[in-house]
Amino acid sequence: MNPVAGLAPYAVRDETSRGRQHPEPSPSYRSEMQRDRDRIIHCAAFRRLEYKTQVFVNHEGDLFRTRLTHSVEVAQIGRSVARAMRLNEDLTEAISLAHDLGHTPFGHSGQDALNACMREFGGFEHNLQSLRVVDFLEEKYAGFPGLNLTFETREGILKHCSPKNAAELGELGKRFLEKRQPSLEAQIANVADEIAYNNHDVDDGLRSGLITIEQLAEIKLFGEQYALVRRTYPDLPERVQVHEIVRRMINRLVVDLIDNSTLLLKEAAATSVDDVRGYGRPLVANSDAVRQQSLELKQFLREQLYAHYRVRRMTLKAHRTIESLFSAFMDDLRLLPPQYQVKIGGSAPAPARARIIADYIAGMTDRYAIREHRRLFDPGALT
Ligand code: MG
Repeated sequence: MNPVAGLAPYAVRDETSRGRQHPEPSPSYRSEMQRDRDRIIHCAAFRRLEYKTQVFVNHEGDLFRTRLTHSVEVAQIGRSVARAMRLNEDLTEAISLAHDLGHTPFGHSGQDALNACMREFGGFEHNLQSLRVVDFLEEKYAGFPGLNLTFETREGILKHCSPKNAAELGELGKRFLEKRQPSLEAQIANVADEIAYNNHDVDDGLRSGLITIEQLAEIKLFGEQYALVRRTYPDLPERVQVHEIVRRMINRLVVDLIDNSTLLLKEAAATSVDDVRGYGRPLVANSDAVRQQSLELKQFLREQLYAHYRVRRMTLKAHRTIESLFSAFMDDLRLLPPQYQVKIGGSAPAPARARIIADYIAGMTDRYAIREHRRLFDPGALT
């Protein structure tokens, strides 16, 4: 089936976009959302994703996913879905590529550690930090701080938000207080994130040897494709077999997502972005049966992979590294690189100081954090 040309009535369009915080002339030969996507690709935080952990720390192996390859996979899945549903592909791609920009080094353990350090100072949340990166932290343009992205891209980046933080975010936070939905393009990026990590974590988990095909065969989503691949190609080498299974799982999830969301949109009789935003629940979703299967896989990964003793050891080291960096800087600001000392100024109150230190730490790649830790705590290391 070829997707019908032209955008669906409930797609986000340039003409109805809520625009940028700092008005700019329209781009030539590009759409507004394309420009957002391009700005994200050219920003420093995007390049740093290459050396940030998804599950496995960068030095554990060259073939494991990093935040960068994860983000590219999310964008690939998101774009396929958006195109098939005649939605704004550029917007879905922009959101997908930016969704993890605020991640700390060392994946979720890094974020948990930094959040614990920031408890008295408003906490740390990677999702909110992604927005902070594109709104303030990138320093590239003469006319404004950050990347000055459109409202729709920023709305998509802010996937979740506490009511307290939402109240401080003005227009962008409103939907969390009013319990409204983001655009369909943002909803797609959200589900594509989950599809991407569930599947690549299976692949990386098997590659690392921390989980096995025999264990996964018990999980319905994997087991069904496993049986099929074995029947069709009994003599495949294991790596090819794994790839065949994973690609079929992704396909199953994506096709179901497109079919089910199309049905939901029809049932909701949505004819505009406003209809989508005002609907009581997301309209981009897998069918109940497939969602159940995804949850089963997610649960398996949580118990068998993310909680594996070797992953936990790395998690503990990550925690300690972030904690000790944060407290060393809080205790003595003069240990910070000069540009961060300048940002803090002479007499900033503790929460403002802590926030700038958190920005510095969150921006680090895994290897930069390891090196910085060595420089501060190993007397034999150069400073
Ligand atoms: Mg992600």
